[in-house]
Amino acid sequence: MKATVDKDLCTGCGLCVDTCPDVFQMDENAMVAVVKVNEIPAGSVDCAKQAAEDCPVEAIKVS
Ligand code: SF4
Repeated sequence: MKATVDKDLCTGCGLCVDTCPDVFQMDENAMVAVVKVNEIPAGSVDCAKQAAEDCPVEAIKVS
């Protein structure tokens, strides 16, 4: 599975990084979240989905 962050929607709140730090990290320059892995590790699929659900601006897609 892969995750994506729409950087035009992301507000840089950091919630996804707190929820799933093995998949998301902050891009300090752009002040948005970015996906740090090509494929979501098996053990992080649940938290990646949770992060997508919790993102306040629905910027995260997991599929
Ligand atoms: S939870 Fe959503 S808005 Fe917040 S940093 Fe992550 S992608 Fe951006």
